[in-house]
Amino acid sequence: MIKAIRGTRDLLPPDTDLWNRVEAKVRDVFARYNFHEIRTPVFEDTSLFSRSVGEDTDIVTKEMFTWDDKGRAASEKSQSLTLRPENTAGVVRAYIEHGLDKRGTLQKLYYIGPQFRRERPQKGRYRQFYQIGAEIIGPPSAGSESPARDAEVLEMLATLLDELGLRGWTLQLNSVGCAADRARYNQALRDALKPVVATMCADCQRRSETNPLRVLDCKVPEDQPIIEKLPRISQYLDEPCRENFAAVRAMLAAVGVPYTINERMVRGLDYYTRTTFEFTHGDLGAQSAVLGGGRYDGLSESLDGPKAPGIGFAIGEDRLILALQAEGVTADAPLDAYIAPLGAGMNSHALRLARELRRAGVRADLGDESFRLKKSFEAAEKADARYIVIVGENEVAGGQFSVKELATGKQEPIARESLAEYLRRSQ
Ligand code: AMP
Repeated sequence: MIKAIRGTRDLLPPDTDLWNRVEAKVRDVFARYNFHEIRTPVFEDTSLFSRSVGEDTDIVTKEMFTWDDKGRAASEKSQSLTLRPENTAGVVRAYIEHGLDKRGTLQKLYYIGPQFRRERPQKGRYRQFYQIGAEIIGPPSAGSESPARDAEVLEMLATLLDELGLRGWTLQLNSVGCAADRARYNQALRDALKPVVATMCADCQRRSETNPLRVLDCKVPEDQPIIEKLPRISQYLDEPCRENFAAVRAMLAAVGVPYTINERMVRGLDYYTRTTFEFTHGDLGAQSAVLGGGRYDGLSESLDGPKAPGIGFAIGEDRLILALQAEGVTADAPLDAYIAPLGAGMNSHALRLARELRRAGVRADLGDESFRLKKSFEAAEKADARYIVIVGENEVAGGQFSVKELATGKQEPIARESLAEYLRRSQ
């Protein structure tokens, strides 16, 4: 038997009802903040990710699904392609490619879609997973560098999670400074690591040379006491970065979004500058990050684009769903009515009635004239319908249908004209 590939999974009803509810809420909230959707390809030129995410990150060194794509015609060159491990790089590539900077305004873009990383699969960690992300990017003259944008994004996330009904989230906040700060901090880390790195894992040994910041991403338990004692990034921020971070924090306080400072949170991608953040959830165990993001001033230039500071985030939709389910949040998508044709020749009449009701906004499912009444009732119960509507010859002729509420057993005749209103959920 052929099975889904390790680390991938099928999403089935009723879980997909919750996925749809989440995505509908996301679109609703994002629209209220004036974000608009962007859809970029699922695969891109490999160098897009190595140049943006960073040569020495876990993603680029171990996790990308990359292949050499042979040209089909002699004129077509072979090319190294990669299934996107994240979507910010693709959005920034599209921003540059389509000259969105020429619009002169802030681009507030969002995406929903699958991402791919060859990670060790476990609960909350998959090789195909889904991200919901958003970016604010634009020329500095449009205000893209303002800490007000950081605060707006963080406040929007708090609102989104609140409106989804998620309670147990914590916002962890940090600033990784600008490129010059990080160069000084990397040097300080290199110096501090020198006497101890020989006892650390192979990744840390390599990174202490190439990109010491990435040592802070290390998850090896034996290395943690050493990492805890390393210098803190806050001591290396220059005055503008310090002021910027203070401004973000002041705005969050002003709107009442709670946060905690976590100086180890430097995020696993190289392109971040200044504000970085994660929202974690207590019920997710080892994979506690529901979402992560931050500012990426300089990313566009590193991809040969114009100066285009930006800030964005990616929600791990799989983990968001797990967190909601852990809190008992379910999708509310019940069936209003099960329509039961009773007797030979009643299928067309039932279909006509179902058509009227469905067009009037009723969620209805439809049986078959070959079913006996008992089987129709069983089918209605299995479908979790609130009402069953009997469509027999007499009902059609009289323009009145027998409607039974399954939970209470209450039954009454309802005129055809009033039926939709009677059955609709809002009722
Ligand atoms: P990142 O792009 O690494 O900043 O990740 C952003 C969010 O995506 C994380 O906080 C997770 O919620 C989610 N995520 C990242 N990798 C995976 C994965 N392999 N499986 C499921 N969710 C993931």
